[in-house]
Amino acid sequence: MATETAQPRPQARKPYLLGSIDAFQEVVSTAVILPKEDGVISVSEDRTIRVWLKRDSGQYWPSVFHTMPSTCSCMSFNPETRRLSVGMDTGSICEFILFEDYNKMIPARTYQAHQGRVSVVLFVLEMEWLLSTGQDKNLTWHCSESGQQLGTYRTMAFVSGLQFDIETRHAFVGDQSGQVTILKLEQDSCSLVTTFKGHTGNVTALCWDPVQRVLFSGSSDHSIIMWDIGGRKGTAIELQGHNDKVQGLCYASHTRQLISCSSDGGIVIWNMDVTRQETPEWLDSDSCQKCEQPFFWNFKQMWDSKKIGFRQHHCRKCGQALCGKCSSKRSTIPLMGFEFEVRVCDVCHESITDEDRAPTATFHDSKHSIVYMHYEPTTGSLLTSGTDKVIKSLNMTWDSGLI
Ligand SMILES: [Zn+2]
Ligand SMILES: [Zn+2]
Repeated sequence: MATETAQPRPQARKPYLLGSIDAFQEVVSTAVILPKEDGVISVSEDRTIRVWLKRDSGQYWPSVFHTMPSTCSCMSFNPETRRLSVGMDTGSICEFILFEDYNKMIPARTYQAHQGRVSVVLFVLEMEWLLSTGQDKNLTWHCSESGQQLGTYRTMAFVSGLQFDIETRHAFVGDQSGQVTILKLEQDSCSLVTTFKGHTGNVTALCWDPVQRVLFSGSSDHSIIMWDIGGRKGTAIELQGHNDKVQGLCYASHTRQLISCSSDGGIVIWNMDVTRQETPEWLDSDSCQKCEQPFFWNFKQMWDSKKIGFRQHHCRKCGQALCGKCSSKRSTIPLMGFEFEVRVCDVCHESITDEDRAPTATFHDSKHSIVYMHYEPTTGSLLTSGTDKVIKSLNMTWDSGLI
C-alpha cells in the first residue's frame, strides 16, 4: 500500500529570525556561531574582526573589535583551542587566540601563505595543519605548531571550496573551472587521486560528511551534486532546487538534512533520508525516439520523407531524445533531485504519481542575497551573511520524528 512505502520525512519547521547584526561598513566574508556563548565571530571586507555576544536584551554587542591593516577574506575558527585563523587579501593568514570569556584576543602567528587574496582557510586540529587556498591558485598546508610550510599544490583554477577528511587525509578542492580535485595529503607531499567533473559553472561551495562519506558540491550553475564516495558505486545525484548561484552548503548529520543557500536568498532544506536516483544519460538520436520525426541536422531523412526538421529535447526521466511535441509535459521529479518542473515525455509523465511528486525538500527565503552560511548543529542555528552587509541568525530546529 502506498502509505506503507512512503519515505519517512522529517517535519521541517519554518526557520525564524532570532536576530541580526547590521553594524558593518562592508560585506561580512565569513561569520561563525559560538554555540555555548550565544555569540558570533565575524570577519569583514571592512577590515574588522569582531566577536559579538548576545546580551539579555537579545541584542548582539561587540566584545572584541579589532581592525586589520587590510581586508579579511575568510576565516576558520576552532572552538576547542579558540584559535581563529583569518585569511587576508594580502595573502597572509593571521592567527589569534581568543580568551575563554571571548572578551579579548591575542595575536599568535602570521603565515605568509599566498600571493594575493586567501580564498579559503581551514584549520585541522587533529593533524595540526592549516590548509589554505589563494588567488595564486595554490593549495598550501602549514604545520600549526611550528608555523612551517609543509607542502603546496598548484590547482587548475581559483579555489572556492575546500574540505578535508581527517581519517584518510584527503583534501577536496573545488575550483572555478567547475571541477573538484581530490588530493591525498602527506606530511610534506601530496598526490592527485582523481577529479570530479559534473558542474557547468564554478564550484562555489563544498561540504563533506565524514560519516556517510558523501561530498556535496554547489555551483554557480544553480545545482548541487551529491558525490557518494562511501557507496563505492560512483553514484552522483543532482539536486535542483535553486534559481540562482549556490553559495553555501551544510550537512546536519543528526537529522540527515542538507541545508543549501543561494545568492537570491533561497534556503533549501533537503531530506537526505530519501533514496534518490541518478539522472539518466541523455541519448543521442537523429530523429525523435517516439514519433521518428527527423531532427533539423538530419538532412537526408528530411529530404527523403519531405519533412521539416525539429529541435532535439530530452526527457529528464528516461533520457530519450525527443521532439517538442513528444515532450510537451512538465513535472517535478523529487526522487531524481528535480524539485522544480522539468521536461518529461508523455509516457514518463503518465508514470509519475502524485506521491512521487511529493517534495523532498522545503524552501525558505532569507530575504537577503547570501554570500556565506554557517550551521551550528548543537543549537540548530543557522547564520547567513548577505550582500546587504547584514548577518542574520535563524533558528532551524525541527522535529526529526518520523511520520
Ligand atoms: Zn516526436
Ligand atoms: Zn521519458
